[in-house]
Amino acid sequence: MRIAALGFHHETNTFQSVKTDYESFANFEFLRGSEIADKHSTSKFTLAGYFRGAEKFEFDLVPLLFAFTGPTGTITKDAFDRISEEMLDLLAQNGPWDGVLLAQHGGAVTEEYPDMDGEIARRVRDVVGTDTPVVMTLDLHCNITQEQVANTDAIVAFRTNPHLDAVERAVEASEILVKTIRGEVSPVQHLVQVPMMINIVKQPTAFGPMREIMDDVDEVLKKSGVLTASCGQGFPYADVDQMGVTFLVATNGDKALAKQQAKWLARRAWDRRTELQNDSPSIKESISRAMNAPLGDKPTVIMDVGDNVGGGGTADSTHLLAEAIRQGLNGEKSLLLSLFDPTAVQTCIDAGVGSTITLKVGAGTDQLHGEPVVVTGNIRAITDGKFEETKPTHSGLRFFDYGPSVALDTDDGHTIVLHTVRGIGNMSREQYYSIGISPEQYKVIICKGTVSPRAAYEPISREIIMANSPGVTSANMSNFSYENRRVPLYPFELETKFD
Ligand SMILES: [Zn+2]
Repeated sequence: MRIAALGFHHETNTFQSVKTDYESFANFEFLRGSEIADKHSTSKFTLAGYFRGAEKFEFDLVPLLFAFTGPTGTITKDAFDRISEEMLDLLAQNGPWDGVLLAQHGGAVTEEYPDMDGEIARRVRDVVGTDTPVVMTLDLHCNITQEQVANTDAIVAFRTNPHLDAVERAVEASEILVKTIRGEVSPVQHLVQVPMMINIVKQPTAFGPMREIMDDVDEVLKKSGVLTASCGQGFPYADVDQMGVTFLVATNGDKALAKQQAKWLARRAWDRRTELQNDSPSIKESISRAMNAPLGDKPTVIMDVGDNVGGGGTADSTHLLAEAIRQGLNGEKSLLLSLFDPTAVQTCIDAGVGSTITLKVGAGTDQLHGEPVVVTGNIRAITDGKFEETKPTHSGLRFFDYGPSVALDTDDGHTIVLHTVRGIGNMSREQYYSIGISPEQYKVIICKGTVSPRAAYEPISREIIMANSPGVTSANMSNFSYENRRVPLYPFELETKFD
């Protein structure tokens, strides 16, 4: 049994001014053939689950191409054309196939296709034909569409946020694919798009209304005849028609059951709509709460929701740093944060380790993320910014590269790590250990993210505050001017109805 594996993976924040071009993929992760096994056979990402599935269900997995980059702006037509062409050529030239495993995100937007994942699925189907089963895995932040459903036999989305189950879901997808090829099951899917969005601050699955939604999904999964069930949380920063919450159920040939279960999930989520919206504290309140934490306790972690690098943030917002300075948060190891600032890094490298320096840091990308802040500090260390994290991380990422990085201890008792690759937020504490910093020793830690840093920072924090900070990933959705989203959509139109 020969099964092709391929993926073109991107979460697109269409509000970001920087477009995602071919080089963004080429310079981040663009793997062909055996390079995929080299990097992913033991990673914690979806592709690792395909390899595990191949072992468990005894098929030959033929990895063809995988292109991935961090969440940035709309993918250019040129990048889409070149990557999809190479991908589909490989699929066509190396067939025939018994089945296809597609590692997509489900939230990708190109200049030409608002639903890139649906377009990829359609083109894959075109190449392999309707008799060859195709199973697609998606991130939980997917906007699932009819196009995606129509061109796959089954879709399996992650069920945790932070995403810690990528491997398990990929094994699940492999099993459905193998059973379909053997004729043991014949999946039918039903999709329900709910006319609402879930605010980013309510998307963690470990607690609150989102936990209840995932408990409902677990209930459906236990039902006889159900092959898989997914909730697409939706990616709110994609200004596209399909943005929003979806439920998808696949059953073994029972269309009525798939429809009934998907509708039940959708109705239950809709009934929780008011609990799924933004209620996060202001930056002023967040800093003051963190400053008033008991002395000697573990760090208070403040999530910089407006600069959520995992959602397209610029990694250089200074809103929270400026507020901390304004409120007088100082003293030894009072604050730890990182900022993307290649110019400041170069200035520090020129000055050298041990030097004391005054310079401007942060807010170099656009006008949304505060003003550069002037700090005076001592350059503690300079590294290449590369490290490996072996503990669980969001989406199973393991190798990190923030580019040349500097640890700066400021006069206020703050430590700022300046880096030169925008990176993917503060998803691993190793980012600090690798430059000689123990985050556990700080009073307050600002993380550039909303949910993705949780796996790393929950174990060492006394409290996690999700700050309603301004920025390109702000939780305050009225800051964004949508042109393409569905209308009505809750909570933008409070009178939205759902039958
Ligand atoms: Zn995600």
